[in-house]
Amino acid sequence: AAALAMAEQVVADLRAKCEKPPSMLREVAAEMAREMGAGLEKEGGSRVKMLLSYVDKLPTGGEEGLFYGLDLGGTNFRVLKVELGGNEKHVVDRYSREVGIPPHLMSGKSSELFGFIASELAKFVNDEEKCTNISNGKKRELGFTFSFPVKQRSVASGTLVKWTKAFSINDAVGEDVVAELQTAMGKQGLDIHVAALINDAVGTLAGARYYDKDVVAGVIFGTGTNAAYVEKANAIPKWEGELPNSGDMVINMEWGNFCSAHLPITEYDQELDKESLNPGEQIYEKLTSGMYLGEIVRRVLLKISLQSSIFGNIDHTKLETPFLLRTPHISAMHHDETPDLKIVAEKLEENLEIKGTSLEARKLVVEICDIVATRAARLAAAGLAGILMKLGRDCSVEDQRSVIAIDGGLFEHYTKFRQCLETTLGELLGDEVSKAVAVKHADDGSGIGAALIAASQSQYK
Ligand code: ADP
Ligand code: MG
Repeated sequence: AAALAMAEQVVADLRAKCEKPPSMLREVAAEMAREMGAGLEKEGGSRVKMLLSYVDKLPTGGEEGLFYGLDLGGTNFRVLKVELGGNEKHVVDRYSREVGIPPHLMSGKSSELFGFIASELAKFVNDEEKCTNISNGKKRELGFTFSFPVKQRSVASGTLVKWTKAFSINDAVGEDVVAELQTAMGKQGLDIHVAALINDAVGTLAGARYYDKDVVAGVIFGTGTNAAYVEKANAIPKWEGELPNSGDMVINMEWGNFCSAHLPITEYDQELDKESLNPGEQIYEKLTSGMYLGEIVRRVLLKISLQSSIFGNIDHTKLETPFLLRTPHISAMHHDETPDLKIVAEKLEENLEIKGTSLEARKLVVEICDIVATRAARLAAAGLAGILMKLGRDCSVEDQRSVIAIDGGLFEHYTKFRQCLETTLGELLGDEVSKAVAVKHADDGSGIGAALIAASQSQYK
């Protein structure tokens, strides 16, 4: 009983530290909006980089032809092919293949990673083109979704600023990722032109805009988090080049690096950050994305177990291993509706070798998952509200509808995260404004978006 009381106290403290009433979330949103402005003002004006994507026109739906896409996120890598049939038909056909990235390639050499990507692409292209004959004389075009911060110089070139998530390949930093890819493709004898370089947030925006003109932003909650939105070109003071005809520019926010004194940061977050591959960076991402939520829960469980022996006299080797408890595991435990929390018991045993837990202990584990996921979802909603504020779409205007397209494994699979995000956004906007704002899941936007942008670029060449 003493052990339980002690553990309950730790959880109660955690809950108190993580809770954010709407008034405080609005502060977070306002700060996000301010940082957006500061990042647009001048180079280095904010931790939120507000990078120019050089995408000045989004797909209209009228694009036609056959295009390839590559999507390198944080966990998986996908190759795809789409056939676009223009306004009436849209996507006539699509094929895609998902390949896991061998972990050793995430911290090896640049040429090895890009060699792997190019060889998987070559296999896919060969398999696909065995059955079709598309040699209509046009060079094949590809859009590359590369979801790490890139300083672009044009829509189809850009140098890597830094790695995030689980990647750390030193010799790639500062290099043009399109040139690296194009070289690796050359070695595979692949004659495909890389026509666009974007990230998953821009891709999600493009993929959703293709079907719906009211889409104003694309957001990712997957391994990491990021957002992209359409800005007026004349509202970007730091831009020195010629303004595009469209008058618009898609901004790749890189909002994962957002940080604010209003963020509810606990001792567990501080330690996670200190021991991460990128200490001091990506603080908002470390609170709101799939790579980290399981790890935060693990750190809380470890503290409780060491202090209170609530799990009995267990061997802590597993529980002490970073990243062993993953976000899909905490999602499964959080959604456990069995009366005796059987799934929680299973996950604890399978992943952490914590056996024979009491029902009280399991309930506490669910509560920890709830605290961590709820905080993530509420902060995520605050970020969305920040974008709407920046766009002046946080108040109601007649006949104005705003759609935010969201993709990523966390949003897609973690139901309670998604529900809480949607409810919180409603709380922050109020009933009136909420009627004109929709959040929608953009399935596979990030992959297809690159192909669509490649298509819309090639159309105007
Ligand atoms: P990426 O960000 O690499 O492009 P995804 O968008 O597919 O990849 O997101 C993968 C992430 O989504 C995983 O790292 C994991 O954290 C999270 N995720 C995947 N499945 C689930 C699940 N069932 N419940 C909660 N989170 C999940
Ligand atoms: Mg992805």
